[in-house]
Amino acid sequence: MKNNSSKPKDASDVVSLVGDLLARAVQHGASDIHFEPGNAELEVKYRLDGVLSTIERLPKTLSDNVIARLKVLGGLLTYRNDIPQEGRIEVSKSGNSDIMDQRLAVFPTIHGQRAVVRLFYNHTELMELGQLGFSADTYSTLKNIAAQNQGVLLLTGPAGSGKSTTLAALLRHILKSCPGKSVVTLEDPVEIRIDGATQVQITPHGEMTFATALRSLLRQDPQVLMIGEIRDAETARIAIEAGLTGHLLMSTMHSGSPAGALLRLLEMGIEPYQVTSSVSAVLNQRLVRKLCKKCRKSPGGKQNAEGQDRQPESEAIGCNECFNTGYKGRALIAEIVELDSPLRKALLAKADLDELEQILRDRGHTTMFADGKRLVEEGVTTQEELNSVCGIVSDSQ
Ligand SMILES: [Zn+2]
Repeated sequence: MKNNSSKPKDASDVVSLVGDLLARAVQHGASDIHFEPGNAELEVKYRLDGVLSTIERLPKTLSDNVIARLKVLGGLLTYRNDIPQEGRIEVSKSGNSDIMDQRLAVFPTIHGQRAVVRLFYNHTELMELGQLGFSADTYSTLKNIAAQNQGVLLLTGPAGSGKSTTLAALLRHILKSCPGKSVVTLEDPVEIRIDGATQVQITPHGEMTFATALRSLLRQDPQVLMIGEIRDAETARIAIEAGLTGHLLMSTMHSGSPAGALLRLLEMGIEPYQVTSSVSAVLNQRLVRKLCKKCRKSPGGKQNAEGQDRQPESEAIGCNECFNTGYKGRALIAEIVELDSPLRKALLAKADLDELEQILRDRGHTTMFADGKRLVEEGVTTQEELNSVCGIVSDSQ
C-alpha cells in the first residue's frame, strides 16, 4: 500500500493525489482523514472502525501543496498558514453519493499545517432493532421497555459506541409497533432521520438548549421522547420528571457502567426515590472491531470441523482489504441492567458503586465483557480487541 503511490511533482498531480485520497477514504468507510506533517514527511491516516491507520507517507516537499489543495477544496484562505481554519468540502467534488458532508479543519503546528477531513455518511441502510446484534435476552428486554408507556431508558458508552444507531432503531421499532404514537427527539445534531418522528435540533450555545426545549416540548403532549444526551442537572431533572409523568423517555449519559450511570443521576441532584421510580433500565454498549474476513486466520487451520477441540481464537493478520489492520467493520457488545427490588433498595440506601456491582454479580448479570466473549468464541473478533474495548488489561476472564 505504501510503496505503490506515485510521487507527484506538479500541481495537477497533487490535485489527483488529494482527490484519490478522499475517494479511497469514502470507499473504505473511513470516518476521518488526517494529514499530519512531521520532520521528513506528511503522514496520511484514515480512521477506520474507530482506529487510525497510516495509509501514505508523502515526501515533506509535497506537504504545502497537499494542504493548499485541501484549503482550496474547503474554501479556506490559502495564504493564511498561521491560523486555524475550518470549512466544508463540497460533496459534489468528491463525486460520491454516500457522503452527506465533509468538514475540513486546518491547524498550524511547528512542522507545518495539519489538516483533518471528517466524513459524514448518509445512513441509507437503517438497521432494525433485531439486526443490531444484541443477545436474545437484551433484545427482548429492549422490546419490553419500548412497549411501556412511561419510564426512562438510559444508554451509556463513549462517543462512537453506536448509541445513536440503537436509539434510532428503538424509535423506529416503536413507530412500527404502535403506529400513531407521538415521538419527539431533541438532538445535537440530528444524526439519523426517523420517518414519523418529530426531530428537533438543539443549539447548545443558543436559546434552544436541551433543558429549555424539553420543558416546552412536554406541553406538546409527546408520548415518547428521545433526548440526545443528559449533560447537566437541569436536563436530568426534567427528563426524570417526564419519565414519571406518562412519557417514555430515552437518552444517553456519559458513564463507564450501568451502575455508574445511576449514581451519576444522584450526583446531579436527582433524589434516589425519583431514580428508582422512573428509570426502567440502563443499557451499556460498545463496538468491537470485527476480524477482516479476507485475511483472518482461523484457529487450527482450515475448517471448523465438528468434534474438534475449540482452539483458542482467530487471529488478526492484515491484508490490502483492511489496510493491514486485520480488522474490518464493527460488532456490538452490550449489557442491560433493569432496576429490580434489591437494586432499588440499595439506591435508596445510598449504596456506592461497589455495592451496586456486587448486587449485579449476585443476580448473575451478564456483563458487556461476557457478552463480547461470544464474539471471540465465534471468531468474529479477538480477545485482545475485546479487552481493549472493555478497558481490561490482563487476559484473565
Ligand atoms: Zn484483511
